[in-house]
Amino acid sequence: MGDLIFAQSNGRKIPLEDKIFGISNKAKKMIAERGKDAVVNATIGALLDDNGNLIVLSSVVDVLKNLSPTEFAEYAPIGGIPEFRSAILEAALGKKYAPKCFAEAVATPGGTGSIRNTISNYSAVGDKVLTSDWYWAPYGTIASEIGRSIDTFSLFDEKGAFNAVGFEEKVKELLAAQNQLVIILNTPAHNPTGYALTNADWESVLSALCRQASTEKKVTILVDVAYIDFAGDEEECRSFLPLFEKLPENILPVVAYSLSKTFTLYGMRCGAMICLAKTKEIAEEFKRVCEYSSRGSWSNCCRAPQSVLAKIHADERLLAKVDSEREQYRNMLLARGHAFEQAAAEAGLKTVPFDAGFFASIPCDNPDAIAERLQEEGIFLIPLAKGLRVSIASVSEEKCRMLPKKIRAAMDK
Ligand code: PLP
Repeated sequence: MGDLIFAQSNGRKIPLEDKIFGISNKAKKMIAERGKDAVVNATIGALLDDNGNLIVLSSVVDVLKNLSPTEFAEYAPIGGIPEFRSAILEAALGKKYAPKCFAEAVATPGGTGSIRNTISNYSAVGDKVLTSDWYWAPYGTIASEIGRSIDTFSLFDEKGAFNAVGFEEKVKELLAAQNQLVIILNTPAHNPTGYALTNADWESVLSALCRQASTEKKVTILVDVAYIDFAGDEEECRSFLPLFEKLPENILPVVAYSLSKTFTLYGMRCGAMICLAKTKEIAEEFKRVCEYSSRGSWSNCCRAPQSVLAKIHADERLLAKVDSEREQYRNMLLARGHAFEQAAAEAGLKTVPFDAGFFASIPCDNPDAIAERLQEEGIFLIPLAKGLRVSIASVSEEKCRMLPKKIRAAMDK
């Protein structure tokens, strides 16, 4: 942790280097020295082909290349261009299970912007924001940037099932200390575990919230669906959404949707926050406050990816083409996940419950020491507080099959 010379820390702990990028750079250095075949870089949060190259959907690139200058150069309205705002409702919520609520979409720079704006508008300065103990570290960074902090509940109970009891206890504890609570649940294809809440898990979450929330104690449930289109059947993965229809006015669901993974537009920084409000007034207020926050942080968002999404959703054949191209890569990713799971079972390596997604995790003591041991063999993973994260999105199926045995050996040393 570097001491600051001139800058103000404002309650933040700012490391000298981002952990994930630091380890990834070490892997790149070793590749330069020893060659590609000697190194497994399972640190990257993007979908790569078996040769380590970034997968970019060619059907999306074609649309991007054919945009007219105004379609990318003109400022977009703060909340997004109108065609994008309606198209993203269909992209995020799907057709079969789109809930009957007052839905409003506000454009954001990726899912990250949605997380930032939800915390800033639905929690107060000094509040704790709740998420699971296995979580994407930038939640902490985003919260600390705006004077909040993260608190966690244990995601799994002793049987390895979703810990509904622990979740409700924590909600109750936090609502005793503050009048509003933002909860972030990243599902399906959770980063870092690959877990997906079942619809029964969702029922428990929502009934707990109904018991704990009240007119004085408001809850915002932010569903981070950054990986949803790589979790399995694109419609069925959204079958939990209608459960939100039953919620009372004092619980506000917000969906953080991103074009980064779904459309492989990571660097174009596009996504949206979508409220599923009980009343028109709450939805209109959502639009007003979130646009205000956007204006005061990044102003408007990049127009090109908004135009791309609008064009894809306006043309059924084009949409089918993009969906089928993505499906091919999703199947590749799912096959890698199964290979990893199977090899882990064969090697007697315990993993955190995994369904699908870019990552799998291995619970262990001393994750930093084990990660360093593996680096000596050219294997790069991310050590987290409670274990090791393996990016199956960035290595081949063959490597997914080989990794568990090596990890097990490093743990046994
Ligand atoms: N949420 C999770 C859990 C993620 O892992 C990511 C990206 O890695 C995001 C949200 C948001 O990504 P972006 O801002 O690129 O959409």
